[in-house]
Amino acid sequence: MTVVVRPKALGDYETREFRMLIDGRWVDGAEGRTIERVAPGHGVVVSRYQAAAKADAERAIAAARRAFDEGPWPRMPASERSLILLRAADMIAARADELAFLDAVESGKPISQAKGELAGAADIWRYAAALARELSGESYNTLGEGTLGVVLREPIGVVSIITPWNFPFLIVSQKLPFALAAGCTTVVKPSELTSASTLVLGEILEAAGVPQGVVNIIVGTGPEAGAPLTTHPHVDMVSFTGSTGIGRLTMANAAQTLKKVSLELGGKNPQIVFPDANLDEFIDAAVFGAYFNAGECCNAGSRLILHRDTAEEVTARIASLSAKVKVGDPLDPETQVGAIITPQHLQKIAGYVSSASNEGARIAHGGTTLDLGMGQFMAPTILSAVRPEMAVAREEVFGPVLSVLTFEKTEEAIRIANSIDYGLSAGVWSRDFDTCLTIGRRVRAGTVWMNTFMDGASELPFGGFRQSGLGRELGRHAVEDYTETKTLNMHIGRRSNWWMPR
Ligand code: NAD
Repeated sequence: MTVVVRPKALGDYETREFRMLIDGRWVDGAEGRTIERVAPGHGVVVSRYQAAAKADAERAIAAARRAFDEGPWPRMPASERSLILLRAADMIAARADELAFLDAVESGKPISQAKGELAGAADIWRYAAALARELSGESYNTLGEGTLGVVLREPIGVVSIITPWNFPFLIVSQKLPFALAAGCTTVVKPSELTSASTLVLGEILEAAGVPQGVVNIIVGTGPEAGAPLTTHPHVDMVSFTGSTGIGRLTMANAAQTLKKVSLELGGKNPQIVFPDANLDEFIDAAVFGAYFNAGECCNAGSRLILHRDTAEEVTARIASLSAKVKVGDPLDPETQVGAIITPQHLQKIAGYVSSASNEGARIAHGGTTLDLGMGQFMAPTILSAVRPEMAVAREEVFGPVLSVLTFEKTEEAIRIANSIDYGLSAGVWSRDFDTCLTIGRRVRAGTVWMNTFMDGASELPFGGFRQSGLGRELGRHAVEDYTETKTLNMHIGRRSNWWMPR
């Protein structure tokens, strides 16, 4: 049985209207079209946006280009940029409840979780503010008497920032403050499903003192508003988070003008569990890893690789804990699993479950969609007897669906873990130090958690191996990602002519 928190009707909720931010002004789209967002947990229109056409994307790029080439932002002392970012962080914290509410109604995530993401986001803005002042190059006083070499870090220029719907405010916060810290100017395009909190961020940045044209925010679909941000010759870098398919397209588009790309893409993350693990702790982490954000999470621990000796017992315990997980109204503080982003996506998730079951997987828990009277929901689901070659074991389901596979020897667990195209993150559970380190070194993933899952910190780099992405976000080098390297090679004293060596 699933514990259900029935959604309350939003009643007299007034749809919020949003315009776009281009060159310091809040404007309508060139074609006067709008996009409406229906709340996935409540089934009513909560936001109405001005939809950007190609011409709006081009206006935004032109504004960012002007602000970079002529404006004060790239040239001001880093200490001043840092102060502005710190002011923005304080304002994010002050408006956290409003921002969390917007993310919860638009994405369907639980409000308690959205508040946690806002606290994490404010911390990232503060961390980026500190890094702004630490950005520096290198000097070489070791090249001989006649030469001094200085390596500068310069802002890369105009950066397009394209984000997905699953962590709307958190993901823009993993990119924008670092680009700003470096002195770049930007055009931001959030997902058309969850743009509200990013637009409120635009208000915050204006109030914090970010100059006109430095941050432009447009709303629209990928092909109309996103694609021009990846092809336009006046854009120097694209920082993209989203699906691997669109990431590939973004890289191909950016290749036409050889832009730098940073890609944070999909994942199908294994948790490898040995019989000597602290199973009480693991079982809680398994449930959290699978159902956090309704499994609509690049980091979801959606592939359990359990040792054969304990697999049956462990699966039964995960199933009994899954039955206690509260699913339903995203705005209820008790809810742990909210709504699914769109009706189409719910059908896709249900399709994965039925194909797996047709191929011989067993539904150990859940397995159905839930009709709660409004919105769209999926029951937490466990599939056991999954084989490594099944689609549900290899592809991103992006829903609250856990696949259980088994292993006998460590080498087999490593082989299964590394047998897919993704390499974002992984977990290992064992009390044995050697076992943890062996898995940690051999599994091809950007992050490996040991006896924990999905913990993070602004200081720790995050990103994927293989088709999970390119580049890293967060961590001490995050600002450098938004820079170009320039060498100043300086001569001291009399230079000898090349035809007359000394
Ligand atoms: P998506 O790829 O469909 O869309 C992401 C963004 O790209 C959206 O803003 C979308 O409008 C835009 N877009 C779509 N087509 C485009 C085009 N042709 N040109 C330019 N932009 C275009 O992804 P989604 O469904 O919004 O998000 C879910 C995906 O994001 C999952 O695959 C998930 O794993 C991934 N994700 C990865 C991370 C990470 O850090 N690795 C974090 C969160 C989400």
